[in-house]
Amino acid sequence: MKAGTVAERSSTAHGNNAGSRQRARETSADTPFGKNGAASTMSTLYIRARMGKICVAITGPTPAEMLENAEKVVRENHFVEFRLDYLPNPLAALPKLKQFLYERSEVTAIATCRRVTGGGKFKGTIAAELEILEKAAAAGCHLVDVELQTAEHTKPAQLERIRARGAALIISYHDFESTKDLDKVFEKIKPYHAEFIKIVSTAKTLSDNVTMMRFLDRRRDEANLIGISMGEQGTISRVLGLRAGSVFTFASAHAGGETGPGQIDLRTLRETWRIDQIDASTKVYGVAGNPVRHSLSPLMHNMAFRRETVNAVFLPLQTGRMNDLLTLVEEVPLHGLAVTMPLKAEILKHLEKTDALSEKIGACNTVVRSQDGKLYGFNTDVAAVVRPLERRLSLKGAKILVLGAGGAARAAVFGLVDKGADVAIWNRTPETAKKLARQAKAKTIRREQLAKTSFDVIVNATPIGMRGVKPAYLLEPKEINARLVFDLVYNPIETSFIRMAREKGLPVVTGIEMFVQQGARQFEIWTGKPAPESEMLRVVLHALKHEREAAAGAKA
Ligand code: NAP
Repeated sequence: MKAGTVAERSSTAHGNNAGSRQRARETSADTPFGKNGAASTMSTLYIRARMGKICVAITGPTPAEMLENAEKVVRENHFVEFRLDYLPNPLAALPKLKQFLYERSEVTAIATCRRVTGGGKFKGTIAAELEILEKAAAAGCHLVDVELQTAEHTKPAQLERIRARGAALIISYHDFESTKDLDKVFEKIKPYHAEFIKIVSTAKTLSDNVTMMRFLDRRRDEANLIGISMGEQGTISRVLGLRAGSVFTFASAHAGGETGPGQIDLRTLRETWRIDQIDASTKVYGVAGNPVRHSLSPLMHNMAFRRETVNAVFLPLQTGRMNDLLTLVEEVPLHGLAVTMPLKAEILKHLEKTDALSEKIGACNTVVRSQDGKLYGFNTDVAAVVRPLERRLSLKGAKILVLGAGGAARAAVFGLVDKGADVAIWNRTPETAKKLARQAKAKTIRREQLAKTSFDVIVNATPIGMRGVKPAYLLEPKEINARLVFDLVYNPIETSFIRMAREKGLPVVTGIEMFVQQGARQFEIWTGKPAPESEMLRVVLHALKHEREAAAGAKA
């Protein structure tokens, strides 16, 4: 097979290779399972046709609660994994499980009773685990998951006994530390002739997802493979793994109900990542930087893609290392990036060309891959500061104070000077303010002058006011002498600066407006379509409100 990106090679599966791939699977599936032909087991094709793309892990402290949880999930998703190891006495749950599966013939179920040594919760012996799994198969579970470690200490006849009960076998392997030796593990599992091979690693870098997806793509013809990288950085493999060759992926029943690090809940996987719609032609975008864990960009952009029926997905790309990011950009390949700290400046030298303002500012927050495959950079932070102000006043000759001299302040100062504003900069470190003033043709101002100077606008471009940042406020009320106040901080929406301005009866612009504006311009650069701004604003406000309520609930 020609070398290429993961997506290019995956797309051939829908073309010339599709026939041979299908034949390969049918050949193995038409044969009764097991080397010695345990004819009573179900056909792999039959199971694959039933199962769907997402398997939801079901847990519960008691059999009744586990089945109650399953009851809720199967209304939306018929494919579930019963994590029997979460129960204090898994055997006691089987009669109820049998009844459940008997009454819901549409459900396809995996039984798992992972021992502590394999990363599960079952404290019993291998023999006890196998007894539970065999009985779960007899109770109607269509698949059973046996950890490689268990299989290695089990006689083949014992595994055949499980199959003879009518269940297909998944042999699984979990690496909680790294993503390595995937082919070696595959070769170890292959001799067991399991109907499904599941290999789960841990992503410590973005490139680990590429390793996993390349592996899936390379081996997808040889077995029914399930491959996922766990951890915060494994989201990419959870969302794009299916198109790389994973037969299905796992989800938790709800946020907080994860059975593996980095597992995503069913609703998010369906509604935010739209995993059911991702195919070979889905364009991939993401927000790159560190931290991006709590970034609202994925929520906002995925909603905008859905709303405007753009076949694209937007992922969090948590990394502080440029090489790691560039590997992903080339291998997946990515069609565009939102770039954030600490990569905004460093990315510049890896771009074919940037717009004039990005070059002047020395920072780029938006990358797009053009048709020729080259990467071009833009800075939408500038428009996101300038436009909300232009809507409210004429910037030509306007007296504007910018607090801060970091990345956001640079975008604000260059953008406002470019529009003819008279910009003064105050920064905690005066030298940085002076340097920026020199570069942007602005001026600096001393702190003691603020109380006796009036401005048309004061812009806060420092993190002061952000949740968790100390001190809680920067300016004293007597230093806020302006006709309009703009706080770039957007979490919380009402910062101390905004509150003080309101108390003085001043109109305000919140950081949310900037956030949505910079995202809307990114959307337009990537898609060439007008951005659904009001919908983007709505989803971000909703998420922040939800976050605030959750935080208040946790404190109460
Ligand atoms: P940055 O490059 O790290 O710059 C931070 C600036 O704030 C520096 O000038 C720094 O002064 C100053 N500062 C930090 N801590 C301070 C303190 N305790 N007291 C006084 N000044 C302090 O960060 P950035 O990228 O410019 O981002 C700044 C803020 O803008 C972020 O926290 C974010 O909330 C907001 N922002 C919002 C959006 C949006 O879409 N709404 C987009 C980008 C940024 P020194 O030079 O003395 O260190």
